[in-house]
Amino acid sequence: MTHDFDLFIIGAGSGGVRASRVAAQHGARVAVAEEHRVGGTCVIRGCVPKKMLVYGAHFAEDLHEAASFGWDIQGAQFDWTRLRDLVNNDVTRLEGLYTNTLDSNKVKHFHERATVIGPNTVRLASGQEITAGTILIAVGAWPAVPAIPGAELGITSNEIFHLDALPKRAVIAGAGYIANEFAGVLHAFGVDVTLVTRGERMLRSYDTEIVDRLVGMTTAKGIDVRFNFPLKSITKQDDGSLLVDGGDKGKIETDLVLFATGRVPKTDGLGLEAAGVTLDKDGAVVVDEYNRTNVPSIYAVGDVTNRVQLTPVAIREGHAFADTVFGHNPRTVDYGAIPTAVFSSPPIAGVGMTEEEARTEHGDAVKIYRSDFRPMKNVVSGRMERGLYKMITAGADEKVVGLHMIGPDSAEILQAAAIAVKAGLTKAAFDDTMALHPSMAEELVLMR
Ligand code: NDP
Repeated sequence: MTHDFDLFIIGAGSGGVRASRVAAQHGARVAVAEEHRVGGTCVIRGCVPKKMLVYGAHFAEDLHEAASFGWDIQGAQFDWTRLRDLVNNDVTRLEGLYTNTLDSNKVKHFHERATVIGPNTVRLASGQEITAGTILIAVGAWPAVPAIPGAELGITSNEIFHLDALPKRAVIAGAGYIANEFAGVLHAFGVDVTLVTRGERMLRSYDTEIVDRLVGMTTAKGIDVRFNFPLKSITKQDDGSLLVDGGDKGKIETDLVLFATGRVPKTDGLGLEAAGVTLDKDGAVVVDEYNRTNVPSIYAVGDVTNRVQLTPVAIREGHAFADTVFGHNPRTVDYGAIPTAVFSSPPIAGVGMTEEEARTEHGDAVKIYRSDFRPMKNVVSGRMERGLYKMITAGADEKVVGLHMIGPDSAEILQAAAIAVKAGLTKAAFDDTMALHPSMAEELVLMR
């Protein structure tokens, strides 16, 4: 049977765009539908604009410390709307580049919502029905907001990049990536930030000692961190301010509530169940190692599968899918030792097992090495913040099974070090490597 296209992709985010380009280069006739903007969460309302705000936020501390390095910066001022517009303009530029990728690979794109109505058929919002030999679901995930009275008074990371003005005060709910990143950013811009978490731990997938160091520094900066804070309700007061009710933990008056309480697969109303595709209890599309669902012509990649919600993973999955289905080269993605980072202030980064995980798996065969140091720049500027690098080894040969760090530029430093961990190198290989002096990264080869 001849279909309108060989491949129809729903979602032009990181995974969908990569899959479309690679499939087209393998000779497939490809179409993509995107209901929002080409680029998806990472480019439009996630990693990219967030990182630009993090860069903007850095200047707060750098300018404060500039005098320690001989600079006179009197009169320095921050203008939120200027940064916001610069960031959004750059997002538009990147959206153009992503669209060019589709065009230059002759991928037909529809700027409307598409739903699945059968194993080989999608329906566009305009009513047009299109058939394809293969359908790829790459619709990503969407912020989850707790079902509490007044939840609609809060915003999510979708809206934070478009604020008309910065609030005086903000309550951030959550203990994960977005909560910690925006706590640092908003605080640097002068917002009075309260971070409320439902449990007694932040960033549960990260090493406890590193996270404890972050919490200590976050608190020392003046961010009010409240653990075990039950979110009961939000109400709007007569003066326009918001009142966040934390039950027996008290109430907090604020001007903005940011929900950073996780992201859920965006499968609502997509027609997948009707088409016979199995979803899990969280609405994620269930796929095998080749990204294939239980319906042989339907595949899924990226956040919608809820495996690892990270852009580089979605890209790898999209690429592997296209090579497998259209390149006659079956490929799976290796999920081992994925380096990750939280662009908090300061950032934290990690790869491999945390100390807790290593002790559970390797027991007494685990050894821990640390470097707890004050970066030279902080010594000069008088800033008390200390970096902490932690190496976890297992076995008699001391294979490095985990590397975790907090400190300036830790994401940049960890990416290179992650190659050594992924390659299965030992502590001795790090020791054998000459230090690059003076740097923070040299602590990696000086750990005792
Ligand atoms: P995370 O998964 O990082 O964290 C979600 C947080 O929300 C957890 O701390 C969780 O608490 C808390 N939470 C969940 N439900 C509730 C609730 N009902 N009430 C109160 N708290 C709740 O999610 P984010 O939203 O921060 O980010 C979403 C995903 O996006 C991340 O998992 C990550 O994969 C990706 N991301 C990656 C970034 C990066 O790579 N730097 C940056 C931003 C996002 P608890 O711990 O108690 O379960």
